[in-house]
Amino acid sequence: MSCAANRVYDAIIVGAGHNGLAAACYLARAGLSTLVLERRDIVGGCCVTEEIAPGCRASTTSYIASMLRPEVIRDLKLGEHGLRMVPCDPALQVPFPDGQLVSWWADRERVVAELRKISSKDAETFVRVDDQLKKLARYLQPFFLEPPPDIDTKSLSGWSYLLRVGKRFRGISSAELSQLVSFLTGSLGDFLDRNYESEKVKTLFLANNIYGKHGGPYQPGTALGLLFHLLSGGADELQGFYGHVMGGMGAITEAMASAARGFGVEIRTSAPVAQIDSRHGRARGVVLEDGTEIRTRLVLSNADPKRTFLKLVSESELPADFVHAIRGIKMDGPCAKVNMVLSEEPRFTGTPANYDPQQRSLFTLVPSLEFAERCYDIAKFGEIPEQLWVDCVIGSNADPSLVPPGRHVMTCFVQYVPYKLRHGTWDENRELLGDRVVKKIAEYAPNVAQAIVARQVLTPLDLERTYGLTEGNIFHGELNLEQLFFNRPVAGWSQYRTPIAGLYLCGAGAHPGGGVTGAPGHNAAHQALRDWKRGKFKEAMA
Ligand SMILES: Cc1cc2nc3c(=O)[nH]c(=O)nc-3n(C[C@H](O)[C@H](O)[C@H](O)COP(=O)(O)OP(=O)(O)OC[C@H]3O[C@@H](n4cnc5c(N)ncnc54)[C@H](O)[C@@H]3O)c2cc1C
Repeated sequence: MSCAANRVYDAIIVGAGHNGLAAACYLARAGLSTLVLERRDIVGGCCVTEEIAPGCRASTTSYIASMLRPEVIRDLKLGEHGLRMVPCDPALQVPFPDGQLVSWWADRERVVAELRKISSKDAETFVRVDDQLKKLARYLQPFFLEPPPDIDTKSLSGWSYLLRVGKRFRGISSAELSQLVSFLTGSLGDFLDRNYESEKVKTLFLANNIYGKHGGPYQPGTALGLLFHLLSGGADELQGFYGHVMGGMGAITEAMASAARGFGVEIRTSAPVAQIDSRHGRARGVVLEDGTEIRTRLVLSNADPKRTFLKLVSESELPADFVHAIRGIKMDGPCAKVNMVLSEEPRFTGTPANYDPQQRSLFTLVPSLEFAERCYDIAKFGEIPEQLWVDCVIGSNADPSLVPPGRHVMTCFVQYVPYKLRHGTWDENRELLGDRVVKKIAEYAPNVAQAIVARQVLTPLDLERTYGLTEGNIFHGELNLEQLFFNRPVAGWSQYRTPIAGLYLCGAGAHPGGGVTGAPGHNAAHQALRDWKRGKFKEAMA
């Protein structure tokens, strides 16, 4: 083993995903000497823009910025570091097999007008339900940028925090409380069946929800997505914001890396961490795969909980029940991504001739509620469904700088596919998945198949191998109630601290979970800073 100089950093971040970079910014801004180590040769984790064919760049993994916390954008001055987001308008667009295209506009009156074309009763219900959902989402919003309350607290500050949290619900009526409980625990399918009459309207809501989730729309807990999507986002803090990022999603993490360097953070890429060195219950440093040892007072891991605690930390340093709980985190799949370069723009049926390129930049091909439920069941038993749920974004229509003239990029998020196949391997079935996605798209945009110049298929296994996502899970652990709030990453450890003093979890596996939010990174850094200020880690390293 070689030892990197005698330098002892105040903090090392394992991983340069957007949460790791956000955490690094906050720590360095507070004066801590901070080093970020990333295994890939680029920063960004699954918030990146990559070249998929000569001169053609795409958001290879995440593709829409809907939940990036406005506070993080402001604190890190990401605008000054080049971040520019343009609201998606429409935020959602669903072509139906009968040729109708329904657009979900940013302006509510326009959505109501679209829905009225399908069912006037549903259009009226939409207004009532939308008001209700927005109000309920506001109760949840403040929980995003702080650790979940510590129910076991014995300290005065812990009790006063619990009191503050309680006060947030002071104005809530009993009717709202029961609505909140049913959104947290109920199913999207049941909610839609109860409130809407038209299958098309229900499909529209389905298209806007349960991304990345295990479970069909009738599974308990799936209604929660309705609230999650109404948390505010974007620089202007708009409820239900959906944004195209100019330069692709990588522009977010490029801006964060630039902000981090500005605060004095050192970022090293192609530097995979093999081990988090902890002894006698205390983190002391990291060891890189090439054997280099680097010493530090704090370690924040941006890797997911399974990777962090089952691969990077020695099991003997952790309590057995903690390891058992980490092993039990539900991950396995269920998503994939297919990115394409095209020689002509996809022409989706039903698109009005007067739509501008931005309005022609997203199309969701979604099955009915009933069919989505079946697709999940097929995937659950290890098969690749014949009919897939495909969310297409034509990035080059939102930002032509992504491609040279005459080329277009389309990224396609695919749900549901298994991590573990029942027959064969993903290496054998990768192109089969790509073919099924193209077949699905051809039903709505027949010109696509013959326009493909390059195709990149990222199966759940590729998401694991390339992006470091255990079992390909896009959120570092399923977002179900059992794995949220007090239970994220596992019960008893939702405050970013871990059983090893000085080691924190700062990625999507921690509260409030996945998505490009910056929230876990922000919260973990603040927790570590609170401990730092109490003088916990200032002693010289032995
Ligand atoms: C296909 C796909 C589509 C998605 N679509 C969207 C979307 O449209 N909108 C949205 O908001 N969210 C989306 N998401 C989810 C979102 O991208 C993630 O939840 C979020 O980016 C996670 O960020 P993170 O910083 O916590 O972790 P990550 O982005 O996973 O970053 C972790 C980093 O740690 C590095 N790392 C791991 N182990 C080590 C090690 N041993 N040494 C050094 N480095 C290490 C990894 O290489 C990686 O760079 C999508 C995700 C995927 C995969």
